[in-house]
Amino acid sequence: MRTDRTVTHSARIYRGTAENLRRLARVLRRGGLVAAPTETVYGLAANAFDANACRDIFRAKRRPADDPLIVHVADLRMLARVAEPNEAVTRLARAFWPGPLTLILPRKPLIPDVVTAGLSSVAVRMPAHPLFRRLLRLSGLPLAAPSANPFGYVSPTTAAHVRDGLGSAIAYILDGGPCRHGLESTIVDVRNPRRPVLLRPGVITAEQLARVLGVPVRTRARRRKPGTPVPAPGLMKRHYSPLRPMRLHRRITAAMAARARSDEAWICFQKPDWACAAKNVFWLSARGDAGEAGQRLFALLRRLDRGPWKCLHAELAPAGGPGLAINDRLRRAAAK
Ligand code: AMP
Ligand code: MG
Repeated sequence: MRTDRTVTHSARIYRGTAENLRRLARVLRRGGLVAAPTETVYGLAANAFDANACRDIFRAKRRPADDPLIVHVADLRMLARVAEPNEAVTRLARAFWPGPLTLILPRKPLIPDVVTAGLSSVAVRMPAHPLFRRLLRLSGLPLAAPSANPFGYVSPTTAAHVRDGLGSAIAYILDGGPCRHGLESTIVDVRNPRRPVLLRPGVITAEQLARVLGVPVRTRARRRKPGTPVPAPGLMKRHYSPLRPMRLHRRITAAMAARARSDEAWICFQKPDWACAAKNVFWLSARGDAGEAGQRLFALLRRLDRGPWKCLHAELAPAGGPGLAINDRLRRAAAK
């Protein structure tokens, strides 16, 4: 039995040079963990066929064993080693892969139980980030990779965020700069291609998926009948949580901010014209662009967690496009 699985690490950040990528791919092949950038958030990757390596992911993140991992693949050939493809995969892959879309499919037996939390399905994604793709190609392995943060905290969108949260639990962090989308992938269950179900909103919307699939995409039922299985086990109400209590508002006005105490921070969706030089007023996108707002959300929540604030107030994004995904993360960040 190996004894080095509980040692304390001190993470080092690696630039994406050819030599470093070869080295990190070797780490993965040996059963080690590597945190690496994707276009959504940073992931903590391990060989998806290696049950011990995947157990180490859960240990490093202190993630409960009933919260399954997403398996990342380089191409459709690799996907076929992990999951049973169907017609929905063909269509969605052509439209959205590589990209921020995760599909739930029937699993193949090579995937160990620890990855899927014992489910008969597996979550699969073909990421677009060039550095993550290089790791997939160089290692030749499908990589299981949840977000590279301690379980329940805000997902990391820079290499420094990863080190802040997991610096003593892992040894290798690949730096690819800030993530392009900053929000976790859209997850859609396409085991039945005629009845796709959206499990997690992301920058790829249900409307876009429906257009490509030619059938409506239902949203996961909010209330389950007692006794029915959990559709997406990890999608609990409270998640992505900043340390400070957070309150949500449909709209934040000058009057609200003026009435409040100076140790309360206000996160507006767009730069308000009344913000002036107020030190406790922040915004996600100066011009109110939902893509940019999503990209900045987690970084801002982390920054505010380090500030003097006792309470955060956040304004909901306008519905439509990534607005739904932003509001999903805000609601869970604010959940008690
Ligand atoms: P992340 O922490 O961003 O990697 O998200 C992984 C999430 O994907 C989990 O928390 C689950 O909600 C979802 N997921 C992974 N595998 C499955 C699966 N087989 N069936 C349903 N949802 C899954
Ligand atoms: Mg996560």
